[in-house]
Amino acid sequence: MRIVFIGPPGAGKGTQCKRLTQMLEIPHLSTGEMLRGTRKESALGRIVSGYIDGGRLAPDYLVMRIVNKRLLESDCQCGCLFDGFPRTLNQAQMLDEQLAIKNNRVDLVLDLRVGQEELVSRLLKRASIENRADDNAETISARLRVFFTQTAPLLDYYKGQGIVRHIDGTRSPDEVFAQIRSCVQATKPKHG
Ligand code: ADP
Repeated sequence: MRIVFIGPPGAGKGTQCKRLTQMLEIPHLSTGEMLRGTRKESALGRIVSGYIDGGRLAPDYLVMRIVNKRLLESDCQCGCLFDGFPRTLNQAQMLDEQLAIKNNRVDLVLDLRVGQEELVSRLLKRASIENRADDNAETISARLRVFFTQTAPLLDYYKGQGIVRHIDGTRSPDEVFAQIRSCVQATKPKHG
C-alpha cells in the first residue's frame, strides 16, 4: 500500500508515521529527513540547508531526484509511507507519473488536521526540547504559511481521485492512531 501523509508542521505526523510503518511493515520515506541527511559539507547540502533553515521548500527537481532514487530500492516495491511529500501540486503529479511507470498509484491520503494556534504552541514547545534549528518563531510561521498556501491545495488534487481521509489531530496520540488504523483497514490497495 502507498500512503501519503499530509499535515502541517507540528500536527504529530512523525509520531503517527512511526506507528503506521510498524503496523504495515512498509518503509517510511520522510523527505525532511532525507533532505537533512544530505551532508552539510557538500555543495548540495549547503543549498538544501539554506531552504530548510529559512522554512522554505526545497526545489521540486531536487526533492524528486531524491525520492525517485529511493523508490527504486527493493524495500519500496510493496509500498511505502510518504511523510512530508508531496508538498506541491507539481510534486504530486510527478509522483503519480513515477508510480504509473510500474502500474502503481497512491492508495490513500491521510489529512491530519490541527488548528493553527495549537500548532504554534506545539512547535515552540518542541523547539525547547529538541533544539531543531528550524523550530524558531520566525521559521515556524514561514513553514505554516508555506503549508497552508502550497501544500493544503494538494488535498483538492487527491480529493479528485477520491482517496482523501480526514484525521482529527487534536486527540490523544492513541485516539489519532485508532482513526488512522480504521482508514487504512478500509482501504484496498489497487495495482494497475
Ligand atoms: P515539518 O513538516 O515539521 O516542517 P519536515 O522534516 O517534513 O518537517 O520538513 C522540514 C523542511 O524540509 C521543510 O520546511 C522544507 O524546507 C524541507 N522539505 C521537506 N520535504 C519537502 C518537500 N517534499 N519539498 C520541498 N521541501 C521539503
